[in-house]
Amino acid sequence: TPGIRPLVAGNWKMNGTSASLNELLAIGNGFMAGLDAKADALICVPATLLARAADTLESTPVKAGGEDCHAKENGAHTGDISAEMLKDAGASSVIVGHSERRTDHGETDAVVHAKAEAAWRAGLTAVICIGETRAEREGGATLDILSRQIEGSVPQAATPETTVIAYEPVWAIGTGLTPTVDDVAEAHAHIRKQLAAKLGESASKMRILYGGSVKPSNASELLSIANVDGALVGGASLKAVDFLGIAEAY
Ligand code: PEP
Repeated sequence: TPGIRPLVAGNWKMNGTSASLNELLAIGNGFMAGLDAKADALICVPATLLARAADTLESTPVKAGGEDCHAKENGAHTGDISAEMLKDAGASSVIVGHSERRTDHGETDAVVHAKAEAAWRAGLTAVICIGETRAEREGGATLDILSRQIEGSVPQAATPETTVIAYEPVWAIGTGLTPTVDDVAEAHAHIRKQLAAKLGESASKMRILYGGSVKPSNASELLSIANVDGALVGGASLKAVDFLGIAEAY
């Protein structure tokens, strides 16, 4: 989108140990060696790795992020991690409302909304994920679902500085399947329109990422679609060669 610097973001999910930090370093070095001219980069890692990931990436243009946060700042929530804790560990951003959180942990739009506000409270960028299931797509409900998720998950105070939207069709995540170019274009145009209706003029500068089976071989096709301002990459973010290959599509 004119005037928007692309963002290539990774999501390591429940993958990675200290042995994976060399991949992260290679990603950092790849962006330092010139890819940063094309796009911003963010790798969201498990909380156990975040502090070391942030250290590893410190002298590179690549930022480290979290994969989820609790809505509260602290308290009696065993096993949960607050946005403030992610910030303290070196995160710049946090993913909220990933479909795996919505499915595995029953997160509703209201929960995702609260988590996005928690991210801002801590000074993090919120990467808010939305997307339809296979049944919803087959039922012709995709655009309605996206409207409902934007209405429920994206707080009114969202700005292009504090918020990134990731469109991730649930059926395309980790499956090797991707929507057609026309379907991606339709979804992203719809998201832009709904954001404009909700947020006004600032929606024209908000990044809308595509996520779901992005890899080096399909990146240039997906990333050149109108209103696609970058990618959220799961599996292919675990290997530096793949992640860098995606960014090279720019
Ligand atoms: C994701 O987890 O956000 C994702 C898009 O995964 P994958 O790239 O593996 O489909």
